[in-house]
Amino acid sequence: VKTIGVLTSGGDAPGMNAAIRAVVRTAINKGLKVKGIMRGYAGLLQEEIVDMDSVSVADTINRGGTILYTARCEEFQTEEGQKMGAEICRKHGIDGVVVIGGDGSFRGAGKLSALGINTIGLPGTIDLDIACTDYTIGFDTAVNTAMEAIDKVRDTSTSHERCSIIEVMGRRAGYIALWCGIANGAEDILLPERYDGNEQYLINRIIENRKRGKKHHIIINAEGIGHSTSMARRIEAATGIETRATIIGHIQRGGTPTCKDRVYASIMGAKAAELLWEGKSNRIVAYRGGRFVDYDIQEALNMTKDISEEQFEISKLLVR
Ligand code: ATP
Repeated sequence: VKTIGVLTSGGDAPGMNAAIRAVVRTAINKGLKVKGIMRGYAGLLQEEIVDMDSVSVADTINRGGTILYTARCEEFQTEEGQKMGAEICRKHGIDGVVVIGGDGSFRGAGKLSALGINTIGLPGTIDLDIACTDYTIGFDTAVNTAMEAIDKVRDTSTSHERCSIIEVMGRRAGYIALWCGIANGAEDILLPERYDGNEQYLINRIIENRKRGKKHHIIINAEGIGHSTSMARRIEAATGIETRATIIGHIQRGGTPTCKDRVYASIMGAKAAELLWEGKSNRIVAYRGGRFVDYDIQEALNMTKDISEEQFEISKLLVR
């Protein structure tokens, strides 16, 4: 491998820039050339490819988002699109690619590997929903942003003795909801993996808690369950307690990455460039059991993980 490309794909996540920077600088230190592929697989197919050097990534470690932009690309899901992608890589002398994204992006990376372009995936998603890894780039920043926002809602919720439903991100996975639930001491946490839609249970708990003198009732709801506003309306009607919904939304995707996201993304980015330099392909860099490791892409995509039952139980035990 002499020249590598790097791209970000799927949803953006804070810390992606730290990963890009580490890929670029590690590769250059190893004597490789680096090209930036803009806008994920869409940019690859449009040949939006730029030369990168150490200076291209200066002043980026502290910045949220991704300097390479990101996109979704349906064309790359077809065999034709994938072949064209591999051809374009060859045309630009790119014989290795680092793909920073989620499971969908890794499926694309697996296809590129099969077509002879050495490809390494890095887990970049705020949702933490990649089975092979205990850490994903962006989760720590997103969950801290959500936690701070929930603290603020809690203050005003207590002052007005309201019930608050606060919706955090996580379409399929409730990791942000669960972590915030514990960190913010929420009365209830609704996880896409667990919630059975039993609103009467919530209503009974709110009424009971109010009788016991509680000044607020915070429900953290995950995006995958959604409908926070209509849920608030129904709960208010049933309990007679003023209930408001707050949807935190996209501020969870942005902002300056936390220390953990910068450091872990840097380590993962460096590891990805090293793997390519060693001639490896079709691997995903992961963090598991306290170590940075790498897995075969197909093996990683076949893994499953579930929200921690232990953490969910603890979250319930810690609210009075
Ligand atoms: P996130 O879920 O965090 O947004 P993701 O990487 O899972 O990240 P997707 O939208 O699923 O996001 O995938 C990103 C892109 O990866 C797709 O737009 C497509 O270009 C490519 N991709 C997804 N699935 C495949 C596949 N089966 N084969 C080839 N390419 C794929």
